[in-house]
Amino acid sequence: MEFQAEVSKVLGIVINSLYSNKEIFLRELISNASDACDKLRYLALTDQKLAEGMSDFRIKISTVKKDRSITVADNGIGMNKEDLIENLGTIARSGTTEFLESLSGDEKKDSALIGQFGVGFYASFSVAEKVEVLSRKAGEDQGWLWASDGAGTFTIAEADKEVPGTAITVILKKEDKDYIEDARIRNIVRTYSDHISVPIMLATKKGEDQLNTGSAIWTRQKKDITEEQYKEFYHHVGRVFDEPWLTLHNRAEGKLEYTNLLFVPSSKPYDLMNPDRKHRVQLYVKRVFITEDCEDLMPAYLRFVRGIVDSEDLPLNVSREMLQHNIVVTRIRSALVRRVFNELKKKAEKAPEEYSAFWDNFGGVLKEGLYEDHENREKLLEIVRFQSTAASDITSLAAYVERMKKGQEEIFYISGENIDALKASPQLEGFRAKGVEVLLMTDPVDEFWLPMVGEFDGKKFTSVTSGAVDLSKIKQTSKSKKAEEEGVSERAGDADIAKLVLAFKDSLGDAVKDVKPSERLTDSAVCLVAGEGDMDLHLERMLKMQGHLDVPSASRVMEINPSHSLIKKLAELVKKPAKKKSVEEMAHLLLDQARIIEGDPVADPTAFSQRLNSVLEGSL
Ligand code: ADP
Ligand code: MG
Repeated sequence: MEFQAEVSKVLGIVINSLYSNKEIFLRELISNASDACDKLRYLALTDQKLAEGMSDFRIKISTVKKDRSITVADNGIGMNKEDLIENLGTIARSGTTEFLESLSGDEKKDSALIGQFGVGFYASFSVAEKVEVLSRKAGEDQGWLWASDGAGTFTIAEADKEVPGTAITVILKKEDKDYIEDARIRNIVRTYSDHISVPIMLATKKGEDQLNTGSAIWTRQKKDITEEQYKEFYHHVGRVFDEPWLTLHNRAEGKLEYTNLLFVPSSKPYDLMNPDRKHRVQLYVKRVFITEDCEDLMPAYLRFVRGIVDSEDLPLNVSREMLQHNIVVTRIRSALVRRVFNELKKKAEKAPEEYSAFWDNFGGVLKEGLYEDHENREKLLEIVRFQSTAASDITSLAAYVERMKKGQEEIFYISGENIDALKASPQLEGFRAKGVEVLLMTDPVDEFWLPMVGEFDGKKFTSVTSGAVDLSKIKQTSKSKKAEEEGVSERAGDADIAKLVLAFKDSLGDAVKDVKPSERLTDSAVCLVAGEGDMDLHLERMLKMQGHLDVPSASRVMEINPSHSLIKKLAELVKKPAKKKSVEEMAHLLLDQARIIEGDPVADPTAFSQRLNSVLEGSL
């Protein structure tokens, strides 16, 4: 049979460019063997037939020097013919597609990527001339032999196997024959697989040797676990291969009895933004693996957390249905969420730089909690961070409030797609002139939690692009006061501006909701703001981008800057009836300019270029 095209691609890379760290093939085989034991152990809880022939789980490694072969055998769930084709002939691992998508074609870079994603079973082909998988599925009688040299095809044939389980034999390439040495195997297992809870035995001349400690890592005392061991367990359980940024290992006793070993990654997992928003914490009951899909165990906005929870209170034969809306699970979740929050808070206070790196990766996800976890909102508000116009690094809300100006009653923010564009927004000019700090929001979720949460510490969140902003109550800082005084004399007269406003409204008609002289502009001639009570500019744009075409386009309020030289000239021009046409053209051009700055398309590109051309021509 032929491998699926993607598998062949992965195999090609593994065989041709995985030079360093080949030894991880053994880690992957052991990891799969351990998963297979966990699966059978769980199924046997409810299936008497499976339980009957079952003996103690173990993983056995044996070697035959003259064949250059290493065999990793387990007595776990096993595979039948269909399983073998499906699991070893197609892309079974969820990360492999992403892995293939991120390939660059540069061998060196791509082989480094393998380390990040892991390619599981296929890693064997980095050292193998040939791989044979002899397997029999628990509960079935027929055994199967799968074999391949990794070059495009594999074979499957009926085969005898006395007991259920899987034995994977790797026949080593000549240049990789060193992996057959006992000392080498011991060393690799101790480095990568000590955390595996199933005993890993090595068959030697004298008998069998257990290579790993053999108890689930989370049942051991913290002081007996090295950082390396934590890390290896994290890689195994989290299926990610970076360093853990945070490790939470706790035992709860009393009303609720459980152990948690949780990790926060130091980089963004590729599937963080998957629409399924599945969390990645595994549930164990009294050391027995139960499921990866206990939905209520962790809220979706903590889906970056990896690891396990082992409960003493749930029954071993707990079914999926029983896990839904289960009171024990709900209690464990509350406790875990609190625990994660506490640790994050500690980090935020004691190691702000590290927290900043965390925030970069997961802040956007954590903020989803502001929207959907009412119960923990207050706690979340303490640990959320924002970019802002004042601080060079991220700031907390409490710190923002401390820096608020006299007379300032609201927390101002501006939202959009990217920080640099936001910082250049004309709507910020007036705030900058008065030294008023504005939070910069670039996560899509901001548009959703802001209206839900509404305020912090009694101060309303207010968008600087909303019509309701009133800067007049905020005192000017001394330096900009001077600027303002100078500015006042430079402003066009109120009566002139009123005339210009009328002329603009006349020209623009329904294209704008209103035209107003602006208090928030200092340098730019015009800007757009939302009318009072209208949807925020950025939210509207975002909903449209997501295909919500039914969202009505609210027409905007155009604000004009009475101190801007262009506006002042126009205010003069508008007095001359002969110039009516020019003023009208200018009104349209300025509106389109404001749209462009906002990131909106101009309404009529052809009309826009004609107008622009005639102005350019006039200036020559
Ligand atoms: P992953 O372990 O991430 O699922 P692998 O490439 O390591 O990906 O393994 C692919 C699949 O092959 C596994 O999900 C499992 O279904 C099957 N498999 C591999 N080794 C074994 C084994 N020893 N016993 C039973 N199934 C196995
Ligand atoms: Mg695997």
